[in-house]
Amino acid sequence: MAALEAHKAASGGTITRDELTPFFVDEHLSLRLIDQSRGIWNPRNLQATLSVVSDPKGVYDDRDDKVGGLFRYSYRKGSVDGDNARLRRAFELSLPIVLLRKIATGLFLPLSPVYVVGDDRQAREFVFALDEGLLMVSDPVHPTPLQRRYAERVARQRLHQPEFRARVMLAYAMQCTVCDLRHPNLLDASHIISDGSDGGDPVVPNGLSLCKIHHAAYDRNLLGITGDGQVQINGDLLEEIDGPMLQHGLQEMHGRPIRQPSKRRDRPDPDRLERRYESFVASN
Ligand SMILES: [Zn+2]
Repeated sequence: MAALEAHKAASGGTITRDELTPFFVDEHLSLRLIDQSRGIWNPRNLQATLSVVSDPKGVYDDRDDKVGGLFRYSYRKGSVDGDNARLRRAFELSLPIVLLRKIATGLFLPLSPVYVVGDDRQAREFVFALDEGLLMVSDPVHPTPLQRRYAERVARQRLHQPEFRARVMLAYAMQCTVCDLRHPNLLDASHIISDGSDGGDPVVPNGLSLCKIHHAAYDRNLLGITGDGQVQINGDLLEEIDGPMLQHGLQEMHGRPIRQPSKRRDRPDPDRLERRYESFVASN
């Protein structure tokens, strides 16, 4: 799991099916980290499940809204046992598992360690804790309001934000939409309408892939993007004289069209861009 975290840091957060079959822990150890076709991966030589796939668009209704942040994972269809038995074993033995959140075909956001903390036989669902802090919840099937709030915060940090980032990075082919920079560690997924505001949902049409400098400039209204995707730089900044970063990184971006995602449905929503652009105009 430490090797998986290291891989994530280097790759921009996601992992492909090929990199999971097998996954190279180091030069001596490799192991398959995903089942060929099923959601629950139970290696023959292990007592308990090693990983589970969660597909937000799949037939299994995995979600974290019903109980506020504690992730609900549906049993595999059919018997309450079968593949489910070894996931229950991970619960009984308090063994960590890897949650592979599907981003696109063959592309996953890995989360680990994740713990199975509840088994709701009535709803045919397991309850996952996405953070070790949630292991203390005494009755995960019925959390208290305080525990819910904590779990919601964990879900936002550990699942929703990284998932938003992964989807935006995929849509923009891991490039800054303003300057085309490709380095994953220098790129952020920024919201057009901020999180928590009306329309500020963590969906790709409300996102932009921006490098650190363009993200900060966008957040501080030094850089604006019009409804039809044209970059505008703050007037005072255009007049300033400084080094090459100001000249090439900001001033020369003025008037450039942003690089749009290739898929139409991923493109930034013009209404949201326009709303956001009004605040750039107002502060200039
Ligand atoms: Zn940039």
